[in-house]
Amino acid sequence: MKNNELPKKIASSLEKLNQVQRILQWEVAKKEQLSPIQIQFLLYLNDHGEALRTVTHLSEEFDLTKATVSDAVSTLTNKGFIIKIQQETDKRSHVLELTKEGIVIVERIAGWRGRLLESIDTFSDEEQTHIFDLLNRLIVKLSRDKVISVARMCNTCGNFLVINKMKSLYKCNLTGEEFSINGINLGCDFYINS
Ligand code: SF4
Repeated sequence: MKNNELPKKIASSLEKLNQVQRILQWEVAKKEQLSPIQIQFLLYLNDHGEALRTVTHLSEEFDLTKATVSDAVSTLTNKGFIIKIQQETDKRSHVLELTKEGIVIVERIAGWRGRLLESIDTFSDEEQTHIFDLLNRLIVKLSRDKVISVARMCNTCGNFLVINKMKSLYKCNLTGEEFSINGINLGCDFYINS
C-alpha cells in the first residue's frame, strides 16, 4: 500500500535542502553585498556559454521579467562584476560576460557548493546515481507539467534519444555521444525544445 505521507515528507526534505542552499548563499551574499538573485546570475553566467548569456535567457531560466533581470544586471555591471558585449549579428542584443572581478566573486561564492559537495560525496557511487536519477525524473515531470519553465537537460531535449530504456542507455543526436544516467547534461548550451 502506498504511504500517503511520503510525498509530503519528500517535499519537506527538498524544501529543507533548498533552505540550506539559501542560508549558505546568504552568508556569501552578506559578505559581498549582493542579493541572492545577483549571486544566482553570476553563477549562471559562469556556467553557461555565450549563446545563453543574455537578459532574455536569464529571464526564462529564473522565471523573472526582463525588467527585473535588467535591474540586477545593471547593478552587477555598476559593481564591475559583468560587462555587456554588443552582438555582431544583432546590435540591439548584448552578451553578458564576467569580468576578472566577477570571476573572483564566483570563486568565493562557489565555496558554499563545496560544503554541499562534501556531504554528497559521503554517499556511494551507486547511491549518488540513484539520487541523480530520481531528481532528474522529478525535474522532467515538473517541466512537462509546466511548473519549471526551462529545464535545459537531456531528458527534455529534442536531441535526446533513448537507446535502451532497461539499461538506461541514451544518445545525443547532435554529438553522437552515448551515455548512461550519470552522463545526463544539465544546463546544456545546445539544448533544443522537444
Ligand atoms: S544537445 Fe545537450 S541537452 Fe540535448 S541531448 Fe545533447 S547533450 Fe543533452
